[in-house]
Amino acid sequence: ARAQPGQHIAVHDASAAPDLSSAFRLHNDLHRAVDRQELAAFFQPQVLAQGGAVKGFEALMRWRHPTLGLVSPAKFIPIAEENGQIVGMGAWMLQQACQQAVAWQALRPAGAAPLRVAVNLSLRQFGDPQLFRHVEAALENSGLPAEQLELEITEGTAMLDLHHTLELLRRFKGMGLKLAIDDFGTGYSSLAYLKRFPLDVLKIDQSFVRQICTDRDDQVIAQAIISLAHSLGLSVIAEGVETQAQHTLLQDMGCEEIQGYLHGKPMPGADVAGWLSGHAAG
Ligand code: C2E
Ligand code: CA
Ligand code: CA
Ligand code: CA
Repeated sequence: ARAQPGQHIAVHDASAAPDLSSAFRLHNDLHRAVDRQELAAFFQPQVLAQGGAVKGFEALMRWRHPTLGLVSPAKFIPIAEENGQIVGMGAWMLQQACQQAVAWQALRPAGAAPLRVAVNLSLRQFGDPQLFRHVEAALENSGLPAEQLELEITEGTAMLDLHHTLELLRRFKGMGLKLAIDDFGTGYSSLAYLKRFPLDVLKIDQSFVRQICTDRDDQVIAQAIISLAHSLGLSVIAEGVETQAQHTLLQDMGCEEIQGYLHGKPMPGADVAGWLSGHAAG
């Protein structure tokens, strides 16, 4: 039997009451987050293992929720992927990242190597027919050379169309963009992608870095990942590096770049200039 209209409305109203689950609440509020300009782009430095010169920054999304405060992307990105909002949010992020990278360049001493900016794209975003246009537009509007934009790819949710994704990645690569595989070694980024995708960079997931100084298994895995990457012509960046001991160990293993709290936490774009001027090396 069908529910009476009155019953239906009662149920709906109950779910809109203030005690609804936080996941549902985030889901609802996210719809307005973009319009209300509650999203922010943060940036975390990536430095050369040898010598510590800054090479670039990874762009990480933040949501300044009016009552809940800063919400982690681990909480709202999956919701945005689910409801398709990730497409618009991703386009916004590409614009922010490219504009910032151009602004940093103006602050660099003459002759300093150009800084790269890395933007996260879940493979779900590759299902969007507008992705290519969004990347092109971000580069055109900002004037950032394609070589300075890196795309970090994780599987995240199910890949919709491998053929289409591959074609897109080859087009990006043809434009000069850099491609990195993120969270390597976790369930979401597998060996199959190394073979199929035209990659430049492999990122060692922080789950292997956390206890690398004490856990022999993590050491063996990290070393194997680095050797594999180098055999395939990829460079390696380790994330989640919090101590000098971790940095040194990874450097000795041949890891080219380091990212983590040791060198800098993710910071608002407005703080990057200050960080750069206080960063002696390079
Ligand atoms: P991720 O791409 O693996 O990003 C690295 C995460 O590790 C970031 O968390 C960063 O703040 C954190 N981290 C960096 N260094 C350290 C460290 O030394 N120690 C520890 N414990 N953590 C460290 P965050 O910013 O919360 O981002 C979580 C995830 O959300 C990201 O993981 C990424 O998958 C996703 N994400 C963030 N921004 C975007 C975006 O613009 N688009 C998409 N599609 N996903 C995004
Ligand atoms: Ca990433
Ligand atoms: Ca990662
Ligand atoms: Ca991760």
